[in-house]
Parts: sequence; structure tokens; C-alpha cells
Amino acid sequence: MGLAPEGDAEDDHAGEGNNAARNNKAEGADDLSNITVTILGCSGTYAEAGGACTGYLVQSEGANVLLDAGPGVVAQLQQHIALEELTAVVTTHCHPDHWAELPVLRNALQYCLGIRGVQTYGTAETETLFKAIVGAHGTDELGPAMPWTTITTGSTFTIADQRWSFLRTDHPVETLAPRVDVGDKSFVFSSDTGPDVDFAEFGPGIDLFLCEASLSVEDEGLAPHVSGREAGLLAKAAEAQRLVLTHFVPRVDVEAHREAAEIAYGARVEVAEIGAAFVI
Ligand SMILES: [Zn+2]
Ligand SMILES: [Zn+2]
Repeated sequence: MGLAPEGDAEDDHAGEGNNAARNNKAEGADDLSNITVTILGCSGTYAEAGGACTGYLVQSEGANVLLDAGPGVVAQLQQHIALEELTAVVTTHCHPDHWAELPVLRNALQYCLGIRGVQTYGTAETETLFKAIVGAHGTDELGPAMPWTTITTGSTFTIADQRWSFLRTDHPVETLAPRVDVGDKSFVFSSDTGPDVDFAEFGPGIDLFLCEASLSVEDEGLAPHVSGREAGLLAKAAEAQRLVLTHFVPRVDVEAHREAAEIAYGARVEVAEIGAAFVI
């Protein structure tokens, strides 16, 4: 099953009413090749001291997109762009370490900054929880700041020059790994997943693969996540050109995860750190 994006956007209104990203590029934007992925938070389950849960800033010439919004991410996001420059938000699943900052981001946009139209994407389960927290349960609208679009496996859309597509992962709730294409560059994020997933289904040409590595090799199979070793195997099977590990549960031995990944992947493996930027 090929899920490489065709550019057949079902939804191309992200960013309307918010031209800041196009007119006011983020600091460092001159260095943008096609895609820059900046780590806003790389802790899994809960955040380490001084850290943040899952969140990444996906920047291109045309858009600044927040990918996942775990606790602590809004503070980190503002280290890189003003909230007025945010084009859209994409969340991968309803576990709180990936989206629980959405209501707080909505507070900022809707009540403090008067920003409208930051298109927000996520699964149906995430929408239900988000609406419950902000008191919009049972209504169609979350308000003008963050209009919602429900996505599922096979959804495709464009955000300015970014083409997004999704693959269901091996995780207990509906979890969608995104592939982002800009020009001829491609970025894939595993979101959370067990080992029973094949990112080659996204098609060829993955330049940067950001893969979770929650487990130690000894704990493989004990939770619906992968180890560094398994992340390396997933990256190798997908023929990804570059592998970065993320989603570290606090107190794990990150270097041991990286070493296990390198052996399985057969090439150099990098690890996510808050503030690090990966340019492709
Ligand atoms: Zn997670
Ligand atoms: Zn999860």
C-alpha cells in the first residue's frame, strides 16, 4: 500500500487568516533547505526535569507547523517562533504526552493573542478529549483560534508547501505516523509504535526518520513501543537515509539506546535533544 502523497489535498485551508509564517519567517529561516525539524520536547510518557514531552517544529519556506503538543511544548515553541507565526498544528494520537498542551495553546491564541485560523489536525479520539477539556463537548466548534480537522489513516493534506500523509502505527489507540514532503525532501515521524509496522509503506525516499525509542532492549515487548534496536530495524527496512531517536522515558540510558540502534541500522544514529534542529 503506497501512501506517498499525491498532492491531492482534501484540505488546503490551513494558514488562511494567518499569513505571518509567510511574511515573517522564523529566525534562522534563511538556513532552511526544504525542511527543518526542531526538537521542542523529546520526553516520552512524562517530561524529564527541565524538559518537555513530545513536540517538534516542522518548518519550510511556507509554513511553521507544530507536530504534537505534549506538556511543556508551548514554552519551547516560543524559543523559536512567535505564536503569531504558527501556521498549523498536527497531533498524532490521543495519549496525553502528545497533545495535552493543546488546550493551553488554545488559551494563548484565542484569549490572549486574538489569533484565528490555526488549523489543527488529529484523530477523532483526540478531538473528543480536546473538546471535553475546553468545554466544547457536544458542539461542532472548538472556536475560531484552532478549527479542527479529523484525520485518519490515508488522510492527505497540504499546509502551504508541506504535503502531509499518514500511516497507522502499532499502538493501542489510533496513532498516525506522518510523512511530510517539501520539494524533493521527505521527513517521517514514527509517533508511538510497537515493532509491527512497516514504514516502507510510505514509499521510498525518506531523508529523515525521527523514531521513538522508548524501551531498553531488555524490555522489548513489554509495552507498545520500540527499543533503539527495533527503531534501527524499522529505519533500515524503510531505507531511511538518516535516523534520529526520540521519546525517551526519563532516566533511561539514551546512549545505550543509540548504540543498539546503530548496530541494527548499520549506520550512524543521532538522538533528539531539546533545541536541536535537523535540516534536510
Ligand atoms: Zn508517547
Ligand atoms: Zn502513545
